[in-house]
Amino acid sequence: MLDRKNRLITEIINNGKLSEYEEIIKEVIENISQQGFIISTRYDSSQSAIDWISKRIRISLIKDPMSIVWDLFHEYGHLFSGEKCGGSKLIDCDREVKAWDNAFTKLSKYPRLLSQKDNFDKYRVDCLKTYCANHHF
Ligand SMILES: [Zn+2]
Repeated sequence: MLDRKNRLITEIINNGKLSEYEEIIKEVIENISQQGFIISTRYDSSQSAIDWISKRIRISLIKDPMSIVWDLFHEYGHLFSGEKCGGSKLIDCDREVKAWDNAFTKLSKYPRLLSQKDNFDKYRVDCLKTYCANHHF
């Protein structure tokens, strides 16, 4: 019988069209779980997010397959970027940059992801431009 984590992995791989990255996705999800965070998916928005209070990471599956992989690593990267100060709802751009840097450090151990660095860099810049419009990168 499939447990919750296996069902989640199957859902991400099937609905995100990511079968060729199954092993990598499994490893990242395992690492996030070991930090005490629960992962779920969403289809109502293309925005993936982390909630420190409920310790939940939501990954949007309504985007390009590679963007889903980058989101997963970005939210994983947040686990090492520190929690937001005072529960602020404002986006902290330095924290976002740090999460992307952490994401790259984590994903660079996988040659198959490293070979898509151009795609990653473009997505990273697009995301930062969206939520940190006034910040200079
Ligand atoms: Zn973020």
